[in-house]
Amino acid sequence: MARGPARVRGTQDMIGEQAARFHHVVDTFDRVRRLYGFGRVEVPVIEHTEVFARSLGETTDVVSKEMYSFADRGGDGVTLRPEFTAGIARAYLSEGWQQHGVLKLATSGPLFRYERPQKGRYRQFHQLDAEVIGAAEPAADVELLAMADQLLRELGVADDVTLKLNTLGDAATRDAWRAALVAYFEEHRDSLSHESRERLTRNPLRILDSKEPQDRPIVAGAPAIDDYLGDEARAFFEAVTHGLDVAGVRWEREPMLVRGLDYYRHTAFEFVTDRLGAQGTVLGGGRYDGLIEALGGPPTPAVGWAAGIERLAMMVDAPAVEWVRVALVPLGAQAEAAATGIAAGLRRAGLSCDLAYKGNMKKRMARADASGAAVAVILGDDELARGEAAVKTLATGEQRSVALDQLAEALRAR
Ligand code: ATP
Ligand code: MG
Repeated sequence: MARGPARVRGTQDMIGEQAARFHHVVDTFDRVRRLYGFGRVEVPVIEHTEVFARSLGETTDVVSKEMYSFADRGGDGVTLRPEFTAGIARAYLSEGWQQHGVLKLATSGPLFRYERPQKGRYRQFHQLDAEVIGAAEPAADVELLAMADQLLRELGVADDVTLKLNTLGDAATRDAWRAALVAYFEEHRDSLSHESRERLTRNPLRILDSKEPQDRPIVAGAPAIDDYLGDEARAFFEAVTHGLDVAGVRWEREPMLVRGLDYYRHTAFEFVTDRLGAQGTVLGGGRYDGLIEALGGPPTPAVGWAAGIERLAMMVDAPAVEWVRVALVPLGAQAEAAATGIAAGLRRAGLSCDLAYKGNMKKRMARADASGAAVAVILGDDELARGEAAVKTLATGEQRSVALDQLAEALRAR
């Protein structure tokens, strides 16, 4: 068979069960975010490059090597979004959404990162995203984490996923911890991977996030943040963990957890699984009180998370197949001419219907049998002339005549 052009490396085409799993994740998120009072937000796929460069940090992997950035035909430097948060923060400022007070927002859609494609890692991938903007209270962190926990429960994957939680403290805490980390890693400089030696001068916290095996034992012995936590930062973290306990959300402390982007403060977390091999993080986020300021706005506290739809879709049980209720099979020229009208009538009456318009009678009946429909409505020219159709229960083969003007009612009653 002629194959035509290939898809772009790292992108995906989906139909059938794979597409159904994907949308099951999105639909479940849409239901859960309503339970928590999060409204939908839509932001562009494309932003000025500086939106990401300024907010994520120039030295992060995403900005330094993963962005799809190009000059458009007018010469503007633009980037396909590699994440949602920066674009939402940009919109918050450019649209004047400050006037709304605390905003609880949810979105989902495609993102682009130039990474090495592998299982659970794509160049066009998709995320669910939830953000609370304008709330400095630990209750906002707790609400977001409870929502993530409920999403995973409703997807049926909660037992295989663990919430790993850390605090990155406030600015003073972070500076003190960072200095201690630099001193420690300097001592072990020669055993660090090449990448981590680079990070040591540019972005030392990122070494904790290193996936290089040779860095792992060194990271395991690094000073933890606890010794540097100021009173306020400690109280904030305690309020979050207490809130999680009260809400019945299980969590584990992970003192070396840092997130891949520069803008996080206080709460940082990941939901991880061992069911997906190397790509074990299904959902990650934290508090990003400094981000909106970095984009030129007023100091604005905010917290959020994002989850990989593909990674969740790989974990969920396949959702029930959505069969049509009715297979409509016209046999004969007049029946065929009338069938589109009958199909439209059934669909307007809320009955899902598949109309067979291809092949001979045998092929059409075979398609009806395979459609998963409970009933076939067989429309012959003779029946049509009498204003009737034959309604066949596909499981039993039992058949009866029904007047066309009572068809929708008769089918609905079944
Ligand atoms: P990783 O450590 O796996 O690279 P990350 O820290 O870069 O993840 P985030 O930016 O926090 O990821 O994105 C949140 C979630 O989005 C991840 O936990 C993951 O589920 C998903 N994700 C990130 N990058 C990809 C990708 N290239 N392909 C598929 N899913 C991804
Ligand atoms: Mg990454």
